Amino acid sequence: MRKAKGLLLIQDGLGDRPIYKLGRRTPLEAANTPNMDNLARNAITGLMDPLAPGVRVGTDVGHLALFGYNPLRTYWGRGPIEARGVNIELKTQDVALRCNFATVDDEMNVIDRRAGRIREGTNALASALSGMVLEGDIEVIFRLATEHRAVLVLRGDHLSPEITNTDPGPASVGEPVRTCQPTEPGLRLAKRTANAINEFVSRSHEILSKHPVNIKRVDEGKLPANIVLTRGAGSALKMRTITERFGLKGACVAGESTVIGVARMAGFDIFTSPRFTANVDTSLEDKSRHALEALKQHDLVVLHLKGTDILSHDNKPLEKMHFIERVDEMIGQLVAKIEPDVYIALAADHSTPCEIGEHTADPVPVLIHGPDVLVDNVVSYGERNCQKGGLNRITANQFLLSLLDLMGFTVRYGY
Ligand SMILES: [Zn+2]
Repeated sequence: MRKAKGLLLIQDGLGDRPIYKLGRRTPLEAANTPNMDNLARNAITGLMDPLAPGVRVGTDVGHLALFGYNPLRTYWGRGPIEARGVNIELKTQDVALRCNFATVDDEMNVIDRRAGRIREGTNALASALSGMVLEGDIEVIFRLATEHRAVLVLRGDHLSPEITNTDPGPASVGEPVRTCQPTEPGLRLAKRTANAINEFVSRSHEILSKHPVNIKRVDEGKLPANIVLTRGAGSALKMRTITERFGLKGACVAGESTVIGVARMAGFDIFTSPRFTANVDTSLEDKSRHALEALKQHDLVVLHLKGTDILSHDNKPLEKMHFIERVDEMIGQLVAKIEPDVYIALAADHSTPCEIGEHTADPVPVLIHGPDVLVDNVVSYGERNCQKGGLNRITANQFLLSLLDLMGFTVRYGY
């Protein structure tokens, strides 16, 4: 079978809803995007549900689905994905959790779950917590992920991921830090693990409150990162990589640890750099350069951009529109340098409408551009226009399969 290469560009949280001040258009519809529209005119387009219509997903599940996994069957929690993202090899007994540096008041009520989106000094804060030993000889591995995010791995005997979050969740300002508990009463190993987490969280508060990085932040009028909140506990799961399943060489260009974690699990080579900030100030130039480089040695290259999702969570539709316009310029430069026989796909992991400030189940616009696709009548890349596209409405798994099939990497069922 003839084989071709593919580039899949994922704009995190791209999908949106009509916004009054953008003339009842979405940021993508309102943005000036000649290059995406040019792709759309020569592509097959459609709408994509990450899992199914009406099902809301996180970035982890959205990407698992886009990388070809069925998260309904194989979901092992956010923690282990993040751990892979920061390059911690999990042992079978380990429990991994996703963490935030956060700010609490003296009564342990949350002031800011992201400690003012802290970016400086976080490595020093993480080092101050790693290596501590908890009651029952449980070892702590604590590593910084992206910005205010980090990963906690508990290593010891008789641990269980069946525990609740200490993070009270989004929109929890003023709420107290939760006590970690077994997900069901009577789980003995989970009780032991929950106790370890509670000890860790309270010691993190003690250590971080006194840390020079935070003393300086308070002096400067910034929120101190004076506690670690935990969530998404899980254990390592052995599973077949996607690259092995389809016999392809994959590469992922990304800055965000969740996406890097999923890509690593899927067997993709990682192209990352400190200049990939997983935010709006990421170096788009470097990202496209890495993507072009990766295409030389790989069949499928995934290029991930986080800025769209960040601006959506912060309800900044205008800024989201401008960021999309910058991405469009990057796409223009990429397309000019890519061989015409390479398939180019645009997608998103989920929608994050700015005015909601959270992920919703709205489907996202997608397209596949390439030498022999059945071009439809859609002339611009947007939520409404892609409703009329030839791919119709498909799931993320089906979208990836459609791309891989065009590239010649799918397996045939039956004779
Ligand atoms: Zn998000």
